[in-house]
Amino acid sequence: MASTFEFQQTVGKTASLSGTSLHTGEKVSLKLLPAPVDHGIKFKRKDLQDEPTIDARIDNLKTVERATTIGEGPMRVHTVEHVLAALSAMGVDNAIVEMDANEPPIGDGSAQPYVDLIKKAGMTVQEEPRKFFDVREPMYVESKTGVLLVLLPDEKFRISCTQAGPNNRFTQYLSMEVTAAAFEREIAPARTFVFYEDVQPLMEKNLIKGGSLENAIVVRGEAVLSKEPLRFADEFVRHKILDIIGDLALVGRRIRGHLVAVKPGHAANADLARAIAREQTQRSAMSAPRAIPIGDSGLDTREVMKILPHRYPFLMVDRVIGFEGENKITAVKSITINEPFFQGHFPGHPVMPGVMQVEAMAQVASILLFKLTKTSSRVGYFMSADQVKFRKPVFPGDTIFIHAELTRARGNRMAKTKCYCVVNDAVVSEGELMFTFLDK
Ligand SMILES: [Zn+2]
Repeated sequence: MASTFEFQQTVGKTASLSGTSLHTGEKVSLKLLPAPVDHGIKFKRKDLQDEPTIDARIDNLKTVERATTIGEGPMRVHTVEHVLAALSAMGVDNAIVEMDANEPPIGDGSAQPYVDLIKKAGMTVQEEPRKFFDVREPMYVESKTGVLLVLLPDEKFRISCTQAGPNNRFTQYLSMEVTAAAFEREIAPARTFVFYEDVQPLMEKNLIKGGSLENAIVVRGEAVLSKEPLRFADEFVRHKILDIIGDLALVGRRIRGHLVAVKPGHAANADLARAIAREQTQRSAMSAPRAIPIGDSGLDTREVMKILPHRYPFLMVDRVIGFEGENKITAVKSITINEPFFQGHFPGHPVMPGVMQVEAMAQVASILLFKLTKTSSRVGYFMSADQVKFRKPVFPGDTIFIHAELTRARGNRMAKTKCYCVVNDAVVSEGELMFTFLDK
């Protein structure tokens, strides 16, 4: 398992598509552009000032009501799941999705227009290997409304889905391996469907202006209302699989596992995507080198002290073991009984204070930022710490491996990092640290 080697792909050339936005009913055009390796999928709002881009990543998820919305600050991109499903299943790892509105065109409510667009753009194989998430042990998401998603180890990406409407009307089941060919043939044409009782209040509030039988199947009682006949007898479960693929694309890695889904929905899909992303971040921290290499690309104490102004007893980095690309760093700090804080924390029972671990993370992250800004005239100031968790105590004799990863940067102004302290292969503390840059 996990041995299959595949290369990343992007689209061969720019291709565009226009249509109507579901929520505003306005005309929208969407352009698919090639992007470099490890870029992932990003949406770009051409209609806004400065044309902001946003990563199609689960960290940016905002809402999951009826459709999947990502956002950052006040900017939103609604209904990303159909275009993401097509990109992911057709094998596009890196691309920019440029739009002049806050959501992609709804088309006929299926992913067919996006499959056509991707085929029009063609595909280019890139030089870096693809990133996978291999399911190692069962993961699950459950809700009080009867939603259950169980993700099991498998060499392929499979989905076995059961869809059931209100009072279990239109219960359908389908199991498949998700490949580009199967997606194009079996899943992409499946259209959005709604149960009348669910959309009636929205129609009254005029919340779905672009919605019509052109872009959704409406089920009223036992009657199926649509512009053209059903494309598959089990079109509903197929569309549910489409939505799952799109929502799980927010993980940013290809999943190797078997998803058993009962009555899935955007909220549960997003919860699972979040759980996968969390597990992946932990794994990345754990798989970093454990031994301290000699004479490598890291930094020794002397070099660390050239970058950091901190000195004993406040220097919390012994050595930088190495960098991984521009965005990751691993450093090490050996904790001895001679650390001054052990005298009082606590007498006769030495435990390393959690805040000192946060300080260690901040120092390691600032070395990474120093490398990033490539200048010593601007200096990063520690602004905030979020999601800080202390999971295990650290004792004298422990060696802490400190990992920091840059998760967001706004030019030379602001940077966000995710940091972990690891002792004996276990995460002892973690946090999200934010920095701002100021001139020295
Ligand atoms: Zn959908």
